[in-house]
Amino acid sequence: MDNFSCWYQNINDENKKYPIEEILYRCPETGNLLEVVHDIDALKSYSPEYWKDKFDSRYRKQSWPYGSGVWGKKEWVVPFIEDKNIVSMYEGGTNLFWAERYGKQIGVEDLWIKMCGNSHTGSFKDLGMTVLVSCVKQLIDNGKDIKAVACASTGDTSAALSAYCAAAGLKSIVFLPKNKVSVAQLVQPLANGATVLSIDSDFDGCMKIVQEVCKKNNIYLANSINSLRIEGQKTISIELCQQFNWEIPDWIIIPGGNLGNISALGKGFLMLKEIGLINKLPRLVCAQAENANPLYLSFLKDFNSFEPVVAKTTLANAIQIGDPVSIEKAIKILKTFDGIVEQSSEDELASSTAKVDLTGTFNCPHTGVAISAFEKLVKKNIIKSDEKVVIISTAHGLKFVDSKINYHMENLKGISNTFSNLPIEVDNSFDKVMKVLESEL
Ligand SMILES: *Cc1c(COP(=O)(O)O)cnc(C)c1O
Repeated sequence: MDNFSCWYQNINDENKKYPIEEILYRCPETGNLLEVVHDIDALKSYSPEYWKDKFDSRYRKQSWPYGSGVWGKKEWVVPFIEDKNIVSMYEGGTNLFWAERYGKQIGVEDLWIKMCGNSHTGSFKDLGMTVLVSCVKQLIDNGKDIKAVACASTGDTSAALSAYCAAAGLKSIVFLPKNKVSVAQLVQPLANGATVLSIDSDFDGCMKIVQEVCKKNNIYLANSINSLRIEGQKTISIELCQQFNWEIPDWIIIPGGNLGNISALGKGFLMLKEIGLINKLPRLVCAQAENANPLYLSFLKDFNSFEPVVAKTTLANAIQIGDPVSIEKAIKILKTFDGIVEQSSEDELASSTAKVDLTGTFNCPHTGVAISAFEKLVKKNIIKSDEKVVIISTAHGLKFVDSKINYHMENLKGISNTFSNLPIEVDNSFDKVMKVLESEL
């Protein structure tokens, strides 16, 4: 594919570059985080119009694998992968839902929810995982000895990893914190034949173990410390600009836990601007659950210091992370984008999820965290009523029916029931049914 290329680079030292065909998760010299850097000059040898037309001509078409929202942008993502090694399940191409009715309630009518959870495994983690698993196939093809691919997960990464590995015929191993993921999240890797290790710890504990395991034994690490994942996730930014005909929203709000995705979102916009497809940047908001809010606490101190926390239980279990791996990348990106971090209590996130569902969505609790952050920023008059706002919905609500039904059945302690909707039990009688309906209408 022309002479497009990319390499690993230390995020704090541009002189430390490493070939993309190596197996690397951190800088081998300093231990710092790595990022994938592209030869932007090679990409810029084509005009912005060329890239827009190219991306549009592929978008959601059936010509495999380029109809995928990720692989349609292959030259910007991982140009070195041969098509025969791509493991794709038609990622991306998700609905940019105009949340007009809900927006009117809040007073921001140019409000959009990017439904990234309407995806193969029900979360936006598919975007990064298609890239990572394809890279693993390429590495094996190149002669590397990789026996399995492993991750620690709060539930969605493991579902994506096991599905893509099963499609590729690769062994997957997932480390899950015991009793801290939803039933739907647990059943996915089981069904896809992963080795599922239920660890008596939290996510941060699982993350430590998996990093140790992957230092040995030819097991490849699939967590988002592996910067290949970020390359797939960043296509969200490109795709949503494309959906707006390359117009840039004023605000993007995303829930954050391990903080790979806030970094990915920024990376996508920076690339769009460098190559000339857009000429300004949006402001970014990372929304955290108050029970797992280390980035928020650091934001309050202007990011001058950062302390990990012990994450407490939250309904938004996929972001129940106290020691985020990608913290340095996230802070860098938020500074570049004049970013904001907001937090939501359990009551706020549950209420916001239920409130927006009443306008036709079916959101996961993490999206609820982002929605609640949006409402708070409107109240503080930081987000203005005439601005264009996109909320990233990260998972499908159907993966979180346990907590959603508990909300509606009013089984959640300490949560107000403002928007709960209980089933009404009625005798098998026309008259009694009519009586109930009269009171409902
Ligand atoms: C992973 C995930 C997030 C957060 O992404 P990070 O990169 O860990 O910050 C948010 N919501 C859902 C549903 C997720 O699975």
